[in-house]
Amino acid sequence: MSGMEKILISACLIGDKTRYDGKSNYNPLVKELLEKYELVPFCSEVEGGLPVPRKPSEIVNDKVINIDGKDVTRNYLKGAELALNICKYLHIKVAILKDGSPACGAHQIHDGKFSGKKIKGMGITASLLTKNGIKVISEDEIAEFLNN
Ligand code: SF4
Repeated sequence: MSGMEKILISACLIGDKTRYDGKSNYNPLVKELLEKYELVPFCSEVEGGLPVPRKPSEIVNDKVINIDGKDVTRNYLKGAELALNICKYLHIKVAILKDGSPACGAHQIHDGKFSGKKIKGMGITASLLTKNGIKVISEDEIAEFLNN
């Protein structure tokens, strides 16, 4: 039995309401992905022990701080470790992660000032997966990924 290739995907992209504000980031291309791949949904923030809804957090220097100034770095590190464990266990080589998130951001994160502006950078999970040889792409690259 060969089975379809497994891909890790941000849970909010498949429609899970795991965002800080209790909403999802459902992406309609998920339907096409499901025709070719087995999707393994994962939310680093929830798995790292944070509730839904929760205060928004941003990366400030090497830490993750919520809007009230609370250091939530350890939750993000735990979520990232668990994501990596799943990838290793299931031999996952590609992760499709929601851009802009302090956990999932593949190319962009917020600027750390809660200003609404984004800067170049990677979320904690995206960074750990990349360091471990997993290809991380954002939702904006799904169409291109499907055509390859
Ligand atoms: S941690 Fe990732 S999967 Fe979870 S809500 Fe944030 S962007 Fe979505």
